[in-house]
Amino acid sequence: MRFDGRDYNEIRDTEMKIGVISKADGSAYCRTGNTIAIAAVYLKPGREQSNLKVSYRMLPFAGEERKGLGLTRREIELSYIIAKALEPAIIFEEIPYLTIEASVEIIKADAGTRVAAINALSLALAHAGIPMKALVGAIAVGKVGEKIVLDLNKQEEDYDSEIIKKELPQYYEYYGEGKAVDIPMAMYKNKITLLQLDGSIDRKSLLEAIKLGKDGIKRMIDLQKIAIEDYYF
Ligand code: UDP
Repeated sequence: MRFDGRDYNEIRDTEMKIGVISKADGSAYCRTGNTIAIAAVYLKPGREQSNLKVSYRMLPFAGEERKGLGLTRREIELSYIIAKALEPAIIFEEIPYLTIEASVEIIKADAGTRVAAINALSLALAHAGIPMKALVGAIAVGKVGEKIVLDLNKQEEDYDSEIIKKELPQYYEYYGEGKAVDIPMAMYKNKITLLQLDGSIDRKSLLEAIKLGKDGIKRMIDLQKIAIEDYYF
């Protein structure tokens, strides 16, 4: 069993809600285990060629260590990556002269914040009435030690067999040798719009991980659909 008792293919307890910010044109909340993202979408008149702007931020108290107030390089890069993961699903031709301003705040971080941000933003865009080819689902998959696992938490992302072997030998038995490789993914329909990889992994494990990630994304999209149904029906 994993650190938190899950099986290799299980996602963390996940909760999604839309319409959480009354003043926004679209909004949503996504909690996956101890990672929480809140997204708000504002629609503004823009140029003929509509566009999506994303701002991802992690609050100072979200992680284990206090984060400074200024925007970090990581936040700027993640804002860009998250926009790229969502853009292909948006049907911009149907909404000319519009700037979509999307902000996503991470209020609690326990790994997988960029994918929680994408799930929350996908819902917030849908809630704002933005025409989309499909909802965009996201999840992180990876290899912890020698095990391919779905939806890594922070303890798994930080896995180091040299330390765990001494401190928590029962988990060393489960995960095995090595460190962690984290692979955040996002998809709409059958198209991958985000695939990142931190660390090194062999081809066979990578393909196996992506297959598991796709199953996880389907589950995330199902949860998004349930959140929409709960709101409107
Ligand atoms: N983290 C943190 N402070 C930071 C950056 C990261 O506490 O400034 C933690 C947080 O739990 C985050 C995790 O490290 O979820 C992994 O961060 P990463 O950059 O890999 O992105 P994420 O997995 O959140 O998408």
